Amino acid sequence: MLSTGIMGSPLKSLVHDDDRYQRSFRLFLERSSEHQCMRDFIHSKLPDILSSIGDGKSHLNVIGVGSGAGEIDLEMLNELHKKHPGVTVDNEVVEPSSQQLHNYKVLVSQKPELNYIKFTWNKMTASEFEESWKLSETTKKADFIHMIQMLYYVKDPGATISFFQSLLDKNGKLLIILVSGESGWGKLWRKYRHELCNTEISQCVTTGDIKSLLDSKGVSYHSFDLPSQMDITECFTQGDEKGELLLDFLTEVLDFNKTASPELKDGVLELLRHPDCSMESEGRVIFNNNLGVIVINEPN
Ligand code: SAH
Repeated sequence: MLSTGIMGSPLKSLVHDDDRYQRSFRLFLERSSEHQCMRDFIHSKLPDILSSIGDGKSHLNVIGVGSGAGEIDLEMLNELHKKHPGVTVDNEVVEPSSQQLHNYKVLVSQKPELNYIKFTWNKMTASEFEESWKLSETTKKADFIHMIQMLYYVKDPGATISFFQSLLDKNGKLLIILVSGESGWGKLWRKYRHELCNTEISQCVTTGDIKSLLDSKGVSYHSFDLPSQMDITECFTQGDEKGELLLDFLTEVLDFNKTASPELKDGVLELLRHPDCSMESEGRVIFNNNLGVIVINEPN
């Protein structure tokens, strides 16, 4: 997929190079409080959200969409288990990256205590999963569905949400996490959406956008803000390999530093350290990585 830089040079989307995407994602996790702020949410707020699901059943169906290596999924499943001890769980994992799926399987194999969970591995995208679910004509419903940092990669986030919401059983919950509209990401995308964002498979969507969409459809939801930060100091050191990798992650452009026009590069770097996006503290540039959580119930 190509998008055009200011000087007409084609920019390639990072998502087409899974190896580099995964490396940049790992580095992002190291440089940010991304997973820590999710863990805080999972331990403080999620237990209450999960307490009402299942409607007294002894078996729960869970679907994770875009699970990555599963660290966050397992953390949520653990809270689910604490709230519903003695209940067995069928966990459908939907993840197109074979590398990530492999990492997830390795993680599970190290935890024999998870034997109350049956894992089903679906190496596919959300829309492929939707297609195969519809073809199977199953009447199965889900009690808990989550899509964490995933909706950027679908063509029509609204349609994806509607489909997964339609799978919810009585008292079921759909949990969405994306960057907040007020984060540095939101600011970056508002200014450079056309230069950076790949319209086909990766989009600049925030919880602000999803809330407007749900409001317009009259779908009710609960939402939470998760403060989070990312240290992007290395992006400002010329030739720094890790800085370049982080810059790829921030722009979602493959080899941004080598392929973007000088104008685009200067503009993006300037905005990244602008107070709209970042604050400077003890010589570090700290990017606003705030996330938003949206929780939707079964449709009425
Ligand atoms: N939920 C994990 C991973 C987030 S990264 C976490 O928060 O740590 C986004 C994940 O979505 C990646 O693992 C990527 O492979 C996956 N993904 C990309 N396109 C997707 C699609 N169309 N459908 C489902 N998952 C997708």
